[in-house]
Amino acid sequence: MPWKGIVAKSFSASEFDAYCHTIAWTAWRPSFIVLHNTAIPSLAQRPDGLTRQHISGLEVFYRDEQKWFGGPHLFVDDKQVWVFTPLNVSGTHSPSWNKVALGIEMLGDFEKEPFDSGRGLSVRKNVVAAMATLCAVLGLDPHTMRLHREDPATTHACPGKNVRKLEVIQQVQDLMIARHNGEHPIKPLP
Ligand SMILES: [Zn+2]
Repeated sequence: MPWKGIVAKSFSASEFDAYCHTIAWTAWRPSFIVLHNTAIPSLAQRPDGLTRQHISGLEVFYRDEQKWFGGPHLFVDDKQVWVFTPLNVSGTHSPSWNKVALGIEMLGDFEKEPFDSGRGLSVRKNVVAAMATLCAVLGLDPHTMRLHREDPATTHACPGKNVRKLEVIQQVQDLMIARHNGEHPIKPLP
């Protein structure tokens, strides 16, 4: 199997939402999302987030050093959402779930770096927005989301302990409801 290529485009959360509405999931359609953190590099090691050059470096790493066919689908930092492996083909990120799940990498080492303040909070907001979009477009229940560390075939404590699954799911759900406010208004009784 050849390298699957990368999209290498960055989006704001709202641009990413528009982008996802242009994609057709015909050949491969994911059943859930797996959340990761990069750990190395940490947020501190990437003071300006991930640049186009960093994304190219990651492509070289996965393709030429790891000899994988793809990588994660998204890299989310405090500024943007980078699309890496195309969202409508399977990627490589969690041994048990590559064939069935989208992989999202968050920039940061959330074993040590905060996920509820500063740049970590910005990463969290961007990833919640991206997940709300993907759940809506693909018809996925946010509760099906898994953390990489839940994969029985991995030894990685990924993402770090500051990423609490139920909190993330709740925020994705809240955002999905908020985005559709007014679309299905609760009508007052006459
Ligand atoms: Zn991981």
